[in-house]
Amino acid sequence: MSEQRRPRVLVTEPLDEAGLARLRQHVDVDERFDLSEEELEAIIPEYDALIVRSRTRVTSRVIEAGKRLRVIGRAGVGLDNIDVSAARAMGIEVRNCPDTTSVAVAEHTFALILALARHIPEADRTMKAGRWEKRRLKGVSLRGKTIGIIGFGRIGRQVARLAQGFGMRVLVNQPRLTPELALEAGVTPCDLPELLRQADVVTLHVPLRPENVGLIGRDELALMKPSAFLINTARGGLVDEEALLDALNGGRLAGAGLDVFAQEPPGDHPLVCHPRVVATPHIGASTVEAQRDAALSIADQVIEILKRPTQAAGVLSLQVVPVDRVVPHEATDPKHVERLKAAIEEQGVLVNPPVVVEHRRDFYVVLDGATRTEAFRQLGIPHIVVQVVDPADGGVTLHTWHHAISGPSWEALHALLEDVPGLRLSEQPAGDIHVRLRDQTNALAYFLTTDGRAFLAEVNDESTDPLDVLNATVARYTAWGDVARTLITDVHRLKAAYPRVVALAVFPQFSIRDVLEIAARGKHLPQGITRFIVPGRVLRLNAPLEILWANQPLGAKQRWLDEVVQEKLALRRVRYYQEPVVILEE
Ligand code: NAD
Repeated sequence: MSEQRRPRVLVTEPLDEAGLARLRQHVDVDERFDLSEEELEAIIPEYDALIVRSRTRVTSRVIEAGKRLRVIGRAGVGLDNIDVSAARAMGIEVRNCPDTTSVAVAEHTFALILALARHIPEADRTMKAGRWEKRRLKGVSLRGKTIGIIGFGRIGRQVARLAQGFGMRVLVNQPRLTPELALEAGVTPCDLPELLRQADVVTLHVPLRPENVGLIGRDELALMKPSAFLINTARGGLVDEEALLDALNGGRLAGAGLDVFAQEPPGDHPLVCHPRVVATPHIGASTVEAQRDAALSIADQVIEILKRPTQAAGVLSLQVVPVDRVVPHEATDPKHVERLKAAIEEQGVLVNPPVVVEHRRDFYVVLDGATRTEAFRQLGIPHIVVQVVDPADGGVTLHTWHHAISGPSWEALHALLEDVPGLRLSEQPAGDIHVRLRDQTNALAYFLTTDGRAFLAEVNDESTDPLDVLNATVARYTAWGDVARTLITDVHRLKAAYPRVVALAVFPQFSIRDVLEIAARGKHLPQGITRFIVPGRVLRLNAPLEILWANQPLGAKQRWLDEVVQEKLALRRVRYYQEPVVILEE
């Protein structure tokens, strides 16, 4: 079994010796540099992990060939050279270490600023040529000057700290920079044109996303002071190099410090050769400390993933967990639970694992599969297989269903709802009722009737939990009429599909965090309001129940699950779809 085999790690670019030594304590390491895509594709099937820096292109072909791959580590920050979505679709983790190089890049930013401000390269060059040009090489001071930082992430913040140390005023351009954050950091938020107009030094610290290509172009350079410096230690494509060259040649900019270029290496590009440019060969992160920290960090992350005992199951985020640690976020229908209990007992398998979020350590909230979980609990099965998803990774989305209620008449339904304890219904102008639902803290939902009226449903008693009233309301009309779930909020369009519809109940848009907090409080939403879309669903696991039922420790059951999944993966009973749904058996 795989646990006996020592994992193999392929390192395709120079990695600091400290990281290599740490890796070798736990895994077999092969260093193979300068591989072509074909060569990498040919050897990757042998390896459990791949560690790269910025040069190796990890394409979808390489990823698909990596049948054993569990993790791709990037010793550094940018992931532009890795097809991250292809890796995700294959259940391969991608790790980087963004925190390890920020200080080095910020320090290099200041090396460039000081080199420009004090003519260091020119001073050095002329001295080596035997000249003493003391008078010509008069510089400018940083104290009291203004620095404009574009991008206030990890590196931008470090730059701000160093700038404050030099006594500079700090302007920052960054979307969603809250006033509190600016205050905390002692910096002034500023829009881009104003920053460019005021700054004596403009420095870039934003990622190269499509919308940031050419962020500093002709128009932006024209706003800068002729005495200002532009510093780029982020990515070459952020600056229009031709426009920069023109600005320097035309005396509209005092100088530029460049660590990065649109094409790397740039060769004898006129910018590199320009007397008012200080150029360095993308060495912002190249310090002994940063490279050692990056290598150690990536080694630790790779080892941690490779050591996880649940290899195959872990790849698909499957885990065995105690049923009593799994809580629903929505009500379950007792009839459905009964039906499922009978089916589970008869088939003896768990077909589809519930999808959960680990809300706190060992505490799971079910996003999808509350009925299955409840059936397990009632059957007395101590453990259940769940698929654990991370809502923070952006793949999980939540929609709110609305309810089309069909029955004899709105009047009858209205009378029924007026009896729900704690509920107040009030007729409101239909045009802005959605605003009231959004803004009024005691609003629960609203009802739209087929004759164009609108009724806001509110809690009328502060001491009652709004969720209890919402649950009672939905339970009342569900018992009364036929309820269909819909995303449509136009009641007239619904008429075509549901001729007997008398009202549409519209609920607030809940966030995933709302839902988790509700479940953690021991409360739940009415059934059929939330609709989670989860990429990479594992379906048809068909895990035999006898193991989950057995009186065995959790670890043993986890190993069993791993074997079940490995076997299915080996038999290639896995299918990936574009919105990846993982099917384990057909
Ligand atoms: P980060 O993600 O922590 O911060 C980037 C910040 O920029 C974010 O806060 C983001 O909201 C903001 N941003 C994005 N687009 C923006 C725009 N158009 N205007 C204003 N703000 C914008 O990233 P980081 O770790 O600080 O790295 C920043 C850059 O430095 C990256 O491009 C990275 O590739 C580069 N980098 C260079 C080297 C080097 O060797 N020279 C080393 C590491 C990182």
